[in-house]
Amino acid sequence: GTKANGLPEEKVFPRPLKDVEVRHTKIFINNEWHCSVSGKKFSTYNPATGAKICDVEEADKADVEKAVEAAKVAGQRGSTWRKTDASSRGGLLNKLADLLERDRHLLATMESMDTGKPFLHSFFIDLDGSIKTLRYFAGWADKIQGKTMPVDDSFLCFTKHEPIGVCGAIIPWNFPLLMFTWKIAPALCCGNTVVLKPAEQTPLTALHMGALIKEAGFPPGVVNILPGFGPTAGGALACHTDVGKVAFTGSTEVGKLIQQESGRSNLKRVTLELGGKNPCIVLADADLRKAVEEAQQGAFFNQGQCCTAASRVFVQEEVYQEFVRLSVERAKRVVPGDPMDPRTSHGPQIDQEQFDKIMEMIKSGKREGAKLECGGVAVRTQGLYIQPTVFSEVQDHMRIAKEEIFGPVQCILKFKTLEEVIQRANSTEYGLVAAVFTRSVDQALCLSSALQCGTVWVNCYNALHAQTPFGGYKMSGFGRELGEYALREYTEVKAVTIKLAETPGETSRDTLPL
Ligand code: NAD
Repeated sequence: GTKANGLPEEKVFPRPLKDVEVRHTKIFINNEWHCSVSGKKFSTYNPATGAKICDVEEADKADVEKAVEAAKVAGQRGSTWRKTDASSRGGLLNKLADLLERDRHLLATMESMDTGKPFLHSFFIDLDGSIKTLRYFAGWADKIQGKTMPVDDSFLCFTKHEPIGVCGAIIPWNFPLLMFTWKIAPALCCGNTVVLKPAEQTPLTALHMGALIKEAGFPPGVVNILPGFGPTAGGALACHTDVGKVAFTGSTEVGKLIQQESGRSNLKRVTLELGGKNPCIVLADADLRKAVEEAQQGAFFNQGQCCTAASRVFVQEEVYQEFVRLSVERAKRVVPGDPMDPRTSHGPQIDQEQFDKIMEMIKSGKREGAKLECGGVAVRTQGLYIQPTVFSEVQDHMRIAKEEIFGPVQCILKFKTLEEVIQRANSTEYGLVAAVFTRSVDQALCLSSALQCGTVWVNCYNALHAQTPFGGYKMSGFGRELGEYALREYTEVKAVTIKLAETPGETSRDTLPL
């Protein structure tokens, strides 16, 4: 069974490891650890305390060159990886999942240290999601198959789904390990090789994964991991002509740059998973307590640092006041605390830049006339904590209703009719997810058809599964991660057409006197 906060009912909670020693801080190329060509390093910090955790080698263009070359060689015709049976690729992914299970406490502790997320969230949500993603795609490895086509005349036509080659992956800091697996699992199951750049704020679990990838037995060069900054290491990956595809998760602004780089270089395939300004619609007939709980978890989960954050909660006028009252009551019960304490469900924001941006958005909400019901202030002197915040009486034209906040800020808006809420929910440049709370099947189906976004959740929130495609409409990006749909993003389709020899007794067009 699971509790309302998405965590399993456990009598004895797992505990974080004490005194984690970070063993891997170098660039991972060809299953070996390298110093950066430039000799530069950068520091990674614990957002709960502001303390430096360690220095990490800083990859740049020259390191990207080395890594892409390694990935290219690892994936070329005749290489060990290309000769690895499809079922063995699945076996390797399953072995990697086993190693994540073995190192679960270590990875969850490291993830919480580097991101500030509550340990139990890392342990149950990020680690579970990562392990399940690896196992799900392990199962697909030997089921990626083409078709035969019944064409006219005497030909045999069939398709093969082949790997693209070197796949670049650029990932954000909000779910470092989970995004790592969302990128490498489908890429490897389809037989590609990978060069991955973690976010500069959160390189640690990605580097530990390097050690596990080697231990699992992946051949050298199949996965290469380059800690570094966006415009330098990320930019070099995005414009490299030997990279056949880039999968990116992050801001819409950088997503546009990646797309442009592809156009300027080699038209590499691009998939983008970008921001959202996701509507969560609560109808008058909904189970109100459940809707309050789910909508607020949707807004505050991971300190609001989710592309799926429920950042516009539309509530039908009959239940609006009660919804606001219950939401404020709930928000006041959320106590920000030490991420390593198992009682903590709310940690600090990732860094000063994000913290300042969120505080500025809160100010703009107040300035533009939204009603600050609770929160709105920083807590504690150490660490980058923001008290969970609820705004009611939010209007569509306000910045907090239009721009992604990426912080623990719930914006509640009032609506009257279904038609009105459809129009307002869709009037955003984004289209990632939406949620609908209602007891009526008809209303749920009507809204799920009308909402312009890649995912609609009915009577639930953040219900992500490895089997289900995830991705955006409009400026939330394109391409789908997870599910069978993800395989399309990591394969090229080749049609093979074979002219068949004449069958006795049949006349082909070639033999007609035309
Ligand atoms: P970002 O888009 O700048 O960073 C995401 C990744 O892209 C990081 O690995 C970064 O190093 C890399 N990157 C940055 N500039 C690049 C460039 N020019 N070329 C190639 N790679 C580049 O996101 P951020 O600055 O960390 O956060 C800013 C905003 O982005 C947030 O406030 C939020 O709105 C959004 N965001 C969205 C997600 C998501 O899951 N969709 C995740 C993180 C941030």
